[in-house]
Order: sequence, then structure tokens, then C-alpha cells
Amino acid sequence: MELFDTLHEKGHEQVVFFHHEATGLKAIVAIHDTTLGPALGGLRMWPYQNEEEALRDVLRLSRGMTYKASVSGLNLGGGKAVLIGDPEEHKSEELFRAFGRFIGSLGGRYITAEDVGTSVEDMDYIYQETDRVVGVHRVHGGSGDPSPFTAYGTLQGIKACLQLKYGSDDPGQVSFAVQGVGHVGYYLTKYLREAGAKVFVCDINENRVERAVDELGAEAVPMEQIYDTDAKVFAPCALGGVINEDTVPRLKCDIVAGSANNQLESEEWGTVLEERGILYAPDYAINAGGLMNVAIELQGYDRDRAYRTVSTIYSIIRTIFGIARRDGIPSWQAADRLAEERIAAIAKVRRFYSKRFKDRLSGRRPHTTATNS
Ligand code: NAD
Repeated sequence: MELFDTLHEKGHEQVVFFHHEATGLKAIVAIHDTTLGPALGGLRMWPYQNEEEALRDVLRLSRGMTYKASVSGLNLGGGKAVLIGDPEEHKSEELFRAFGRFIGSLGGRYITAEDVGTSVEDMDYIYQETDRVVGVHRVHGGSGDPSPFTAYGTLQGIKACLQLKYGSDDPGQVSFAVQGVGHVGYYLTKYLREAGAKVFVCDINENRVERAVDELGAEAVPMEQIYDTDAKVFAPCALGGVINEDTVPRLKCDIVAGSANNQLESEEWGTVLEERGILYAPDYAINAGGLMNVAIELQGYDRDRAYRTVSTIYSIIRTIFGIARRDGIPSWQAADRLAEERIAAIAKVRRFYSKRFKDRLSGRRPHTTATNS
């Protein structure tokens, strides 16, 4: 990989490699864009096959965080960290504390959080060395499990879609097919059932399906049939890449809106959904509730405030569809445009004030020189 060409192409600001022999730490932090504020993004621990794979992953994920934070209206930039290692075998207190010391050395440009392969306990170790970490345990002022917030935000996004499609945002009037009833899917199904909706569910884990059926009154469907289910809303809450060549022709729904990351196998499938008259709520906007929730920790955690912030996902999704209509583009592209327009606008404000500040300084210089001499 030609690293600087890649950084230039995708707009990354900084990539930092951390190596600590004593603990075996090998980590990469990618800071994509800090126009809006310090870069926040999770620490992923994964047994990458090689360093290039880890680098590609951190570059891709950190860019995604810039877009997510921007559409969410947060004063945060996009960043991500990857730790090369097997989370089942290579975790230790000293490993995460070494990582904490390293990110502390970045002077606040990057704030870490939990991600695939890392846990609240790992964040607590990092917190022993730096306060540039969110998603710590409640005793340290943390916010706990983000999943109920992600599910609550997804519900708000679904309501915005329902309003647009049917002129009513009441989920109780329609049916849902939820793919994956893990952390987020379970809470989403719970909220939908509480609203009186009919909810079909599937999961590769049978115990989770059973729990959703027994506790929430959902109806189980076989895994592969979830795409053919006669439900108005398909909510992917498991894997990425589920909107693809095989699945799109089978969908009977009017709306695709769920929490899973990277739902479109490629962007063209978002366009195909549009052409088929299916509303698609862009994944990184509708699933931003978890990020919004941890971001509140930076100001002193307040649960009510977190829920109020997460409920703005309703208007964010409406704004995205408004841009799609305004510019005649699919919703996935409208989300990108919203993110980019906000960053460009704030960059303009920053440039204006830094120019005024410089002008003032240069205006003052003769006086300062005279005083000093
Ligand atoms: P999870 O692992 O708790 O739940 C995922 C569920 O999907 C599991 O129960 C798993 O068994 C099931 N599953 C896996 N493959 C499946 C398949 N082929 N068909 C049906 N079910 C399958 O994860 P989660 O935290 O609930 O996250 C769900 C999705 O939402 C992920 O894509 C995640 O990246 C995204 N997301 C989560 C959060 C959060 O706060 N947890 C925030 C933003 C985005």
C-alpha cells in the first residue's frame, strides 16, 4: 500500500503505530478528520492476518466515524484504533494500560471506546492511564451498555421512515422483520412490541430467538426466510452486507431500517432499493445512538440527556430524506452529503475566526514590540 497516497485519497489526517515490546502491544490509531472536534472511535481487537489488513480496517473504520459523528450533530471527529491480537488469548491489564499511555500521548486528539473484541473492563484498564476513553464502568462516570440507546435511536429512525411512507409514525400499525436479536435487536423488538407491532425475528442463536418469542411475544421465522417475510419494515440487526444481489429481489418490505453496520454490500444496492421504491435509512445515521450516548460522558454523563440526544435521530433521518429529495439522490448519498456539508461549513467558520485572530495579532504586533523593547 502506498500509505500517503491512501491517506490523501480518503482524507486522513494522521496514523500512529504503537509498539510496546514488554506487553506485546501492536496497535494502530487512525485519525481521519478533526474539523468538528477530537476524533472518537472504538478500539477493535482482532487477530488480523497481517499488518496491512489491520491498517486497511482502521483507515476504513475511522473514516466511517467522521461521517457518523458529523450527521449526528456531535462536536467530534472520526477516529478508530485496532489492536492486533486474539481477544480470547492476548488480553491483559498491562496491554490495555500500555495502550492507555500511548493514546494519552496524543494530547486529546483521539478518544477511544469499546468495539468488537474489547469490553468495559478493558476500557477501565485504559482509564487507569488516561481520561481519553469513554464507555467505562458506571463507577467511573461511564454510561454502561450502549445497546438500549442504539435500539432507541433505531426506533426513532424507523418512526421517521414510517411518517414519510405512511403519514403516521406509529410502529404499532405495521409489521417488522428483525434479523438478529442480540444486544440491539432484542431491545428494538421490545420497543416495537411495546408499541403493539407484530414482529418476526430470526437469529443463528436459537436461545436468543426463544427469548424474544417467550419474553416479548415475537414470532420466529427460519433464518433464510427473513428476507421473504411479508413485513412492512426489514430491520437488519446482525451482520453487514445483507442488502445485496441475492436479497434485494426477495424483499417484500417498504422500508429497510436497522442497526447493523455496513448493511449495503456496496452502495449501488442502496440505489437499487430506491429504484424499487423501498426507503432505506442510512445505517451509520440510524445506528448512531450508541455513539451519541458515550459522547455525553465527555460532558458528565446524564441518562436523560442521552435519551434526549438520541431521539434527535428522528429529525436527522428526516433531514437526510429531505436532502435526497432536494438533490434527487439516493438516501445513502444524501447522508454522506449531509456529513460533508456540515464539516465544510464548520471548517469555513474556523477559517474565518482564525483569520480574524491572525489579523488582530498582526495589528497588535507593533504595540507589543514597542512594549517589549
Ligand atoms: P450482537 O452480537 O449482540 O447481536 C447480533 C446478533 O445477530 C446475534 O444474536 C447473532 O447470533 C445474530 N446473527 C449473526 N449472524 C446472523 C445471521 N446470519 N442471521 C441472523 N442472526 C445472526 O451485536 P449487537 O451489539 O446487537 O449489534 C448488532 C448490529 O448493530 C451489528 O452490526 C453492530 O455492528 C451494530 N451496532 C451495534 C451497536 C451497539 O450499540 N451494540 C451500535 C452501532 C451499531
